[in-house]
Amino acid sequence: MSCPSLQNVSYFSNMKKIAYLTIDDGPSEDFREKVDYLESRGIKAIWFCRGEALERFPKQAIYAIQKGHIIGNHSYDHPYFSEISLEEARYQIDHTDHLINEIYLQAGIKRPIKVFRFPFLDNGSGEDYLKCNWENTNVRALQKILKELGYIQPVFEGINYEWYVNAGFDKCLNVDCTFDTFDWCLLEGEQKYSYHDLPTILGRMDEMVPENGRGLNDQKSNEIILMHAFISLEDFKTLIEKLLTKKLLFKLPEL
Ligand SMILES: [Zn+2]
Repeated sequence: MSCPSLQNVSYFSNMKKIAYLTIDDGPSEDFREKVDYLESRGIKAIWFCRGEALERFPKQAIYAIQKGHIIGNHSYDHPYFSEISLEEARYQIDHTDHLINEIYLQAGIKRPIKVFRFPFLDNGSGEDYLKCNWENTNVRALQKILKELGYIQPVFEGINYEWYVNAGFDKCLNVDCTFDTFDWCLLEGEQKYSYHDLPTILGRMDEMVPENGRGLNDQKSNEIILMHAFISLEDFKTLIEKLLTKKLLFKLPEL
C-alpha cells in the first residue's frame, strides 16, 4: 500500500486549474478556421471583437456564436481609452454593442451577456497593464458608462493572484486578464522586454513569476488567458498546443 499523504501529493499535483480563454481583435479572415481548431480541442472562448471587424466579417462571428462561443465588445476601432473623450468612449462601446446585437440576432441566438475589454488593456488610467488607479476620474467615468450600457464582468472563479485582486480587476465591469500571452509581439517589429518571436513567447509560458502576470505553472490561482485573433493560424495552433501541455482545464464562465 502506498502512503496516503504521498497519494494526496500526487492527486493535487495532477489537478488542473481552470483557464478562461479570451481572444481579442477578431473577427479575422481565418476566424472560422480558428474557431474550428478550438472546437477540435474542446475549447470555447470569449472573443472580444472590434466593431469595424464585425462589419467586415459578420458571418465569421455568427459562426462562432452558433458553435457556442461568446462575442464580447472590444471597442469600434481600438483607441487608447486614456486618450479619447468620454463622448468618443461611449460611442466606441455603444456602436459596437449595437453591431453585436445585430450579429446575435442574425445567429438566431439570444445574447447571453455583455462583456467588454479595453483595447491595449487601457482602462482609462494609462498605467502599466498590471495596475489600475481607481481614483482616476477618467477610469471611474468609463466604468459608469459600462454600467449604463449594461456591461458586467462574469464570475471568473478562483482568480487569487494578489496583484490582480489588489489592482481591483476582479471588481471592475470590464474583463482584464491574468496571463497575457504576448502573442501580439509576433507582429513584425513588436517587442516587449525579451519577447519578440515564437520561441521566446512559448518560453514565457514556462516561467514562474505568478505575481508579475506569469503564473501559468502556479496552481494557486485560475487564469484568464489573453490571445489575439490577428496572429497566423499556424502560430495560433502552436500557442494553443503549448497551453494544452499545462495543467489547465479550459472552460467558459458560468452565465
Ligand atoms: Zn486589442
